[in-house]
Amino acid sequence: MEVPTLDLDQEFKSIEDEINASLEDVLSSKQFVLGEATEDFENQFADFCDVDHAVGVNSGTAALRLLFEALGFEPGDEVITTPMTFIATVEPLMHMDVRPVFVDINPRTYNIDPASLSQAVTDDTVAVVGVDLYGLPVDADPIEEFCNTHDLYFLEDAAQAQGARYNDRQAGSLGKAGTFSFYPGKNLGAYGEAGAVTTDDPDLADRVRKLRDHGRSSKYEHQYPGFNERMHGFQGAVLKEKLKHLDDWNTKRREAADRYDDLLSDLPVDLPEVPDDRETVYHQYVIRSEKRDEVVESLQEADIGAGIHYPIPLHLQPALEEFGYSTGDFPVAERLADQVLSLPVFPQITVEQQAYVRDVLEDALGQYSVSSPPG
Ligand SMILES: *Cc1c(COP(=O)(O)O)cnc(C)c1O
Repeated sequence: MEVPTLDLDQEFKSIEDEINASLEDVLSSKQFVLGEATEDFENQFADFCDVDHAVGVNSGTAALRLLFEALGFEPGDEVITTPMTFIATVEPLMHMDVRPVFVDINPRTYNIDPASLSQAVTDDTVAVVGVDLYGLPVDADPIEEFCNTHDLYFLEDAAQAQGARYNDRQAGSLGKAGTFSFYPGKNLGAYGEAGAVTTDDPDLADRVRKLRDHGRSSKYEHQYPGFNERMHGFQGAVLKEKLKHLDDWNTKRREAADRYDDLLSDLPVDLPEVPDDRETVYHQYVIRSEKRDEVVESLQEADIGAGIHYPIPLHLQPALEEFGYSTGDFPVAERLADQVLSLPVFPQITVEQQAYVRDVLEDALGQYSVSSPPG
């Protein structure tokens, strides 16, 4: 048996005709950059996220960069975020000479801990970027309250959380603005690079729209220096068709996660926790084990697409050395980085595949608990 990390082949087969028709519309229109397909997707995705504006761009990283530029972040500013995220959350800040400032995370949700924000805020702080890690929305209300008190922007990196909810509010609508990635492996994935910025603020949306297109205010007038980060027509065409299936696919991910919860309940691992006020979309199904490194190897040897998100927290990455963080600064994030293990979860995963994952996992855990000293 083989259990991939995700199965894009099966997914494509289930929607092949719609995708091909949508791509052919772009071929006949020749609107390869932005164009009608992208606009349709932007409108549909804004509705889906319950916001007034969605601006299609060329990646999740571009969405973050353009948002930070549009908000006018300047060298010397500081932005508070979590060390347990993909580097793209902070990369654009570093290119802008804005300092990423980390706080530790909540040991149960793995998201930014609102209680730790006050230790990190300074006169230079301009924003808090919450990350909806593994598809679970950040604890938005206390973060927003903190941001309002300190006059900061609350921004949401929702790259992993298309369709997730916090108290009936959609991911991407929780802060001043949200950013999405549609990298092929995300819950809503393009067939190439793509991303979006979501917001209710018309002026902010307008600035992002201009920045993605060379700062254009009209065909020949450039209001400010911008970027070339426009969404491609083919990606808009793919995304608008896939968006129709997203809720269904997310439901199937949750069903698969529930099955894992049952199958793994008697194994010595920690299972994901979902607070009552949130609906996750299980971009990853993440368990924790002190034998993580040995276990992940056993799973991979048994053709199970297990992964680690993320083995090195950002404050300990070589790329962030200049900020002077060291081991011990964020103990919760560091412990998680040593223990987290992502099991395969995708809409088409079968009961048999999940039972196989359980069996291999049980064997691996048994083997290493016997041969390793306790602790
Ligand atoms: C995927 C991801 C990004 C980056 O998106 P790209 O489209 O790959 O540029 C940013 N933040 C998080 C949390 C992500 O998971």
